[in-house]
Parts: sequence; C-alpha cells; structure tokens
Amino acid sequence: MPRIAYVDGQFVQHSQASIHVEDRGLQFGDAVYEVWAVRDGHLFDRQGHLARLGRSLNALSITPPLKDSSLMVIVRELIARNKLTNGLVYLQVSRGVARRDHPFPAHARPSIILTARSMNQVQADERAKQGIRVMTCPDNRWGRVDIKTVNLLPNVLAKQAALEAGFHDAWFVDADGLITEGTAQNAWILDQAGKLRTRPATQAILRGITRDTIIETAQSLGYPFEERAFSVDEAQNAQEAFITSATSFVTPVIAINASVVGDGNPGKISSSLRSEYLSQQTSVKEQLRASI
Ligand code: PLP
Repeated sequence: MPRIAYVDGQFVQHSQASIHVEDRGLQFGDAVYEVWAVRDGHLFDRQGHLARLGRSLNALSITPPLKDSSLMVIVRELIARNKLTNGLVYLQVSRGVARRDHPFPAHARPSIILTARSMNQVQADERAKQGIRVMTCPDNRWGRVDIKTVNLLPNVLAKQAALEAGFHDAWFVDADGLITEGTAQNAWILDQAGKLRTRPATQAILRGITRDTIIETAQSLGYPFEERAFSVDEAQNAQEAFITSATSFVTPVIAINASVVGDGNPGKISSSLRSEYLSQQTSVKEQLRASI
C-alpha cells in the first residue's frame, strides 16, 4: 500500500512529498516537531503532544499554522489513508520559506509536514521484555533542549556512537556528572531507597509527554516518586532503570556502560509501568477522551 504524507495543505504520495530548497527548517533548523504513537489504532497522549507543540511554536515565535482541531482532523485522515494501526505520526512545522537570511522573514508562512510510519509492535514489545543497554556520553547539546526543535545532530551522533559500540542507545551526562536524558527518551531509575526518580523538567531536558503521563501513573499506583537528577553511579547502582518516550513507551534499561543494573533483567516496576501505560492509553475511556 502506498504511503501518504501531508505537505502544506495537501495529501501526497510519500515518495513524491517534498519541501522547498529554502525552507528555513532545512537551512537553519528553524522548525519544531512532534511525534505521536499509534497503537491498536489509538493515538497516544494526543492532548499532551498538541499542548507541547503550542509551547515549542511559542518559544520560537512561529505562528501556529492551524488550530488544534483542524490539525487533529488532518492527523486522523493521515492515519486512515495510511491504514496505520501500529506506528507513529510525525509532524514538523518550520518558520516557512524565505530567501536565506538569518533574521525572521517578514512575510513567511509556516510550512507543515506530516508523515505516518508503521512499526512492528511485536518486536518493540520483545525489546522491552529483553531490556536495553545504554552507553553514557557528554551532553554537548545547546542550552534550550527543552524546546522540541529539529536540531538533533548531537542526538544523532550519540545514538550512532552507541550503536557502533554495541549498545542500544546513549544517555547524556552533564558537566556535574548527572544524567540529563537519552538521545530521544527521558531517563529514569528506581533508586536504592526504592524511589522512582527522573530529572526535573528544566531547560536541560525535553519534558517528555510520556514522562508526564508516567509520573501520574506512578503516583496513581502509589509508587514513591521524586523529580531529582541522578548521577551515572547512582544509575548503575539503582534497582531498576528505564526510558520513556512516545516511541519506546516504557522500556527497561538492563545495563549502563559496563555495569549491569539490578540483576540484569528488566525491573518489575518498569515492566508494570509499561503495561499500565499501554492499557491506560488503549482503554475505552482514553479513546473517548481523545475524540473530544
Ligand atoms: N527527550 C528527547 C531528547 C526526545 O527527543 C524525546 C522524544 O522525542 C523525549 C525525551 C521523550 O519525549 P516524549 O515522551 O514526548 O516522546
């Protein structure tokens, strides 16, 4: 079945979809993006991603090209046209097309791109059952990684370095030796005292939408929780470690560099948070909420 994309007001064949050579997203990384997971036909954390898109656009003074309700009509149409049951929807909004020059152009209209991609959820679930191994590396990103922009070169290089070194992913470490986050996920531990911890949402991390939902989930399950940064050493000596993101949901981390976390198997609490999150997001209640 041919893949369908959406570019500036039109649904087009994915293979034919293109943007202008002077799109500012292409030339300056002057663009923001969002990713929604789709599982069993459910669009996860719909409202949270929309709200963050608004914050990212606002941070860059880009006028939202569409109302949230119109955007959702397009997202649902894209899902339908691609017959997407399991996968993800990618959205990118740039400041628009203008002659290459650093200042904001006076008259550019924001450009909008949407793509949909299927993902093998059986494989993803299998990976979560096995757990992943992460490598740490210095966080050399810019100072506003809290804005979801397309400037992801350090993330790309860190991910590649991790794969080449035989790991599944990388965790960034700040100048104080504290873990910030993963290349495309937030980082969590269940510390030695039995507390779930993830870094506070300052400008040093992207405030994950999955992270926020998992905080609520953890609290509703009565797990002790604290927003407090942790060191590499604390993570290596934690009872459990895991990542959260729209694409990985909750995925246990079983090793950090050369150290095994806990007994080297996915932790019980990490795994229970994953199942709880998946059942919450695919529940009828969530579906009703999502359609509002
Ligand atoms: N941190 C970074 C750097 C990311 O790129 C992402 C997702 O792309 C996340 C965290 C997790 O965010 P979310 O849960 O909204 O997918």
